[in-house]
Amino acid sequence: MLGDNTAEQRLRLLQAEFTQHERRGPGDGRTATRTTSPAPLNLAVIDRISAAVAEVVEHTRAADWTRPAGPTPADASRIYAWAREHTAHLDAEHQQAREALIYRQGLEHAITMGDTTVVRKHPCPGCGCWGLMWRPAVQRAACPMRYCVDDDGLSRSWQLATLAHHHIARQLARKSSAT
Ligand SMILES: [Zn+2]
Repeated sequence: MLGDNTAEQRLRLLQAEFTQHERRGPGDGRTATRTTSPAPLNLAVIDRISAAVAEVVEHTRAADWTRPAGPTPADASRIYAWAREHTAHLDAEHQQAREALIYRQGLEHAITMGDTTVVRKHPCPGCGCWGLMWRPAVQRAACPMRYCVDDDGLSRSWQLATLAHHHIARQLARKSSAT
């Protein structure tokens, strides 16, 4: 099958790690002795999760507007399963675009949790070498090879969407050569 559940697992981790204490109320009935106010980071993560879900929903609905996709799952981490279920009847191109989106979000979730090493698992789309480095300031993965530069002589760098597109295309190619 094309794609896997990595993005879903990461989204679940993100929810658990960064948003759980929001839900833990005092619960003992006493009045507001809340000692920990929600950290800005957690609110930012909640925003990111909602934005990710909204993007998947929009993408899924746009993929086939003739068939209303119905209500979205209450649990955000089920959104990828929901998207696959509602686009499974579409052509290969749509499936590929959906998987690239899911995969790209998986990379984003990992980076949000501080794991920027996920970009290293992809060869540079420009020169095919390994060792891409995440550049937080520009939100791109840069190639470490001296000769892999753009017209201005700067290291070539790639958006996560580009890495995801290439990754899913390779996965598809492997799948079709295996059959
Ligand atoms: Zn390169």
